[in-house]
Amino acid sequence: MNKVLVITGGSRGIGAATARLGAASGYAVCINYRHNEAAALAVVEEIARAGGEAIAVAGDVGHEADVVRLFEAVDETLGPVTALVNNAGILETQMRVEDMEAARLSRILTANVIGSFLCAREAVRRMSIRHGGQGGAIVNVSSIASRLGAPNEYVDYAAAKGAIDSFTLGLSKEVAAEGIRVNAVRPGVIYTEIHASGGEPDRVERVKASVPMQRGGKAEEVARAILWLLSDEASYSSGALLDVTGGR
Ligand code: NAP
Repeated sequence: MNKVLVITGGSRGIGAATARLGAASGYAVCINYRHNEAAALAVVEEIARAGGEAIAVAGDVGHEADVVRLFEAVDETLGPVTALVNNAGILETQMRVEDMEAARLSRILTANVIGSFLCAREAVRRMSIRHGGQGGAIVNVSSIASRLGAPNEYVDYAAAKGAIDSFTLGLSKEVAAEGIRVNAVRPGVIYTEIHASGGEPDRVERVKASVPMQRGGKAEEVARAILWLLSDEASYSSGALLDVTGGR
């Protein structure tokens, strides 16, 4: 069976690191992205130069029609998905809950939560032995914010990641007897561009003193945990929430 890996938000940060490592581990990789085509194509070219197989497909995970098209594009070019990483995620400007507008809450929940549900739905329809598939693995990228709450920064984002944790537990039990494992990683502070969206590009430098290891994490360190959970090495793990936080 061809190993086919779909990574949402695979063009930058943790997603891009997962795409590179996934290709090096023998997966044909689909890099989904929302706006930044140049970044997605750069990862595709890097993988091709290293002898791997990758495609880039645009689509907003919060839009159902985009998600359906994404998985159809994968069917047509790489074959049906066998591994999904629900990595695409957003946060917005740091603020207190009392200042949050409904439109913002809707954007945060749509991209982070509904997007992961829709992508998992498409994956399960293809992977589940109940639907004639051959099984597979899903990793949801949550955040340690689900446990810490992100007060004064983005409680909305933390709550969305709390939903991802519950989603991981529930879906893992729903499909465990159908050949699909579902797990999550919960990164701590990682050096990526996401912190700029919160208005604090250097957030890792400020927060790292509160990390027991006294440093921020690298995207590759999260990617390695994701690839392990996807692999047969994790064959008896499902419904796990794996913290990748430097001990935080
Ligand atoms: P990032 O550097 O900001 O990259 C985000 C990626 O997601 C980009 O490829 C972006 O594509 C894509 N994306 C955003 N919204 C999307 C949408 N609606 N549909 C499809 N793609 C979308 O983020 P990151 O730091 O690597 O974060 C990746 C995941 O890790 C997220 O779920 C995040 O919550 C989680 N996480 C990160 C940290 C951290 O410290 N960095 C900590 C805990 C958890 P475009 O560039 O095309 O918009």
